[in-house]
Formats: sequence, structure tokens, C-alpha cells
Amino acid sequence: MNDRNPLLAAVNSQSAWLTTTLRDLVLIESPSDNKPAVDEAVRLVASLAQSIGGRVKLHRQKHFGDVLELRFGPARSSRKPILLLGHLDTVWPLGTLRTMPWRKAFARPFTASHRPPAGRHRVMPATMEDTEARGELRIYGPGVLDMKSGVVMALAAIRALAQLGISRPITLLLNSDEEVGSPVSRPITERLALTSQCVLVLEAAQGLACKTARKGVGDYRLHVTGVASHSGVDFTSGHSAILELARLLQTVAGFTDLKLGRTVNPGVISGGTRSNVVAEHAFADIDVRIARASDAARVDRLFRSLRCSDPGCKLEITGGINRPPMERKPGTVALYKQARRLAAELGIQLDEASTGGGSDGNFTAALGVPTLDGLGAVGEGAHAAHESILIDHIVPRTALLAALLASL
Ligand SMILES: [Zn+2]
Repeated sequence: MNDRNPLLAAVNSQSAWLTTTLRDLVLIESPSDNKPAVDEAVRLVASLAQSIGGRVKLHRQKHFGDVLELRFGPARSSRKPILLLGHLDTVWPLGTLRTMPWRKAFARPFTASHRPPAGRHRVMPATMEDTEARGELRIYGPGVLDMKSGVVMALAAIRALAQLGISRPITLLLNSDEEVGSPVSRPITERLALTSQCVLVLEAAQGLACKTARKGVGDYRLHVTGVASHSGVDFTSGHSAILELARLLQTVAGFTDLKLGRTVNPGVISGGTRSNVVAEHAFADIDVRIARASDAARVDRLFRSLRCSDPGCKLEITGGINRPPMERKPGTVALYKQARRLAAELGIQLDEASTGGGSDGNFTAALGVPTLDGLGAVGEGAHAAHESILIDHIVPRTALLAALLASL
């Protein structure tokens, strides 16, 4: 780490604030489906933002937590703002803190992809022997990685810039419905993105890399209606929805094309009532991931072309592609190169990665707005019991975010 870097020094001076604030935010549990709970997190972040000079606008929601729009920097400026994107909801239900409390502990990496190559990337290392034996110091807790740390890092980055007298228009948009597909916040995100210079997404890093491409996501449901009958008394007059669905799913499995970056996964199946009844109903929920925007129409045509082979069965198809892919476009690559250069100045190496998971960055990238994702914390176990962030990376990554904001 380059200790003479003024941004790094400014961020470093508030590392205690960072940890305390993150703790306060993690201790407010905020599942997407609990409006009062998420709104409490919204209130905390709104007051924190005000304390560092932010202007607060609430987009009130009926069924989800309110969408929080925060503006920093000069109220009037000829420069377009940079849009920082994050979310305050988590996948964890109320009460998770009882089994997954906020705690600090050492742990070795869970996944191979996370392990930093020896000698590179390491920031403020403990001694090598220490790390081998105990792993790295982490903070655990529901939502700590995905993505309350990203939210707090953004606030700290803005705070550091203010401390250095650097002012530029910044919009921080935090929604409360990301984990359920951003149904209400999507139009707000898109509207703000179109008037912004670029978008930086505060989702967690992928290993140690930022994300320059994400797959698009689709959800389809196949619902087959057959004809019920008694399997012993009247077998031949029945038309089994279950058998028909099973045949259709064989066809659907063939839609996967790994070369195109397209995967199709029937993740839920249900149907029938009893084993001695020919099933009248059966359905399957299918997750689709696509790497290219041009593939969306093709996938949709494939689904719409499905036909029942049993003339006594009917098929209904609902759903579609709901997050377009974030493709690796020149605007995003330029942002990445800038981030990489700034990271090097801070003494850290930044790589790029692509992921099959979607974020709100998918929406903004698909509109042609340069979008760089994965600028939040470094850690592991999003949506899993070992969800955690690596403490040593918080300050340098926050400084990187601040450097990007200052340089763009
Ligand atoms: Zn997230």
C-alpha cells in the first residue's frame, strides 16, 4: 500500500468510522420482503448521508423499502454526475443475526478462485505464516458482503473526498428490491443512469477483480394442464401433465449452449396430487442466463416454439428475460482501465472478471451507459452462511472508489 497517497491517508483516517457504521447497518436486518425493516436501514443511511452534506430524496414505495436517492457535490454543475448504485435489502430473513451474528474472526479462503496469487494483490499483509495458518481477518454477518459494505464504502469515499476539498456531482442510488429483481427501482435506476456520466456499481468484487461483464437473466414458467383420471379404473382417459412436462423439459435442456454462454436450468418442478391420479397440473420454473443481448429474442422464440406432444395436454408459458446482459463494451473497458491504473497507484492490482450473476448494472449497461461493477468489498459467501468480507481490503478498495470518483 502506498502510504503517501493522500486519498489513501484520508480513507485510512476514517477506518474506525467505516467499521462502526458498517456494524450499525448490518445490525439492522433488512430482507427485501419486509418494508418496515428495510425502511429502517434507509433511514440510517439517509441520516448518515445528511451528516456528510448529502441531499436526500425518497422515492416512496408501497410494497418495498423506499428507494433512496442521495446527491453530493455542487447542486448546480455543468458536469454530469457519476451514478453509484447499491441496494439496502438482503436475502436474509429477520432473526438471522441470532445464528449469523456480526463477528470478526480469522478464516482461510473457502474458494480457490478467491485465493490471491502469492506476492500480488496483498495489501497490508499479516506475516505470510500467519495467513497460511489462520487465514485472513474477516467480518461476518447477514448482508455484510452483499452489499452493506459497498454502501458504507461509498459514503466513506465521499467523506474522504470532502476531507480533501474535492467536490463533483455524485448520485448515490440505493434501492430495496434488488434481491428480488428490482421490480420497482428499475425505472428510477434507468432514468438516473441516462443523465449520468457513468455508473459505478457497489456490488462485491469477484475474488479480487471488478466485473466488466454480467450475464442477462430470465425466468420462465411452463405450466402444463392435462386431464385427470383414476390411474386404476380409468387410466386411458387421462392425459398426464407430469409426463408431458417431463418430455418438454428434455427439449428445454437442449436450449443450453455453453459456447454462446447460454444456460437453461429448470430449478423448480411441481405437479400432481396423488400417485393414483393421472396428474392434471404440472409446472416448472426455469432460470435462463444469456451472455449476449442478441440472444434474448432467440431464447424467447425457442420457449414460445414448445408444443405438447400429447394432444390432450395444454401448455402455458409465462415469463421472459428480465435483466439484459451487461456486455463488455468499450465504455466499460475504458472505466476498467482507468480503475486499474488508479489501483496501481494505490499499490493494488485490479483485474477484471465476468459473472453469470445479474445486478442493477445490467440495466444501466444495456442502455449504453458505461458501467463498471464489483467495486464494493472483497469477500466470500454472498447468500451463504459464511458471508464475510476481508478487513484488510476495505480501506484500499474505498480509496480506489474515491480515486475513481475524483478522476472521472
Ligand atoms: Zn447485491
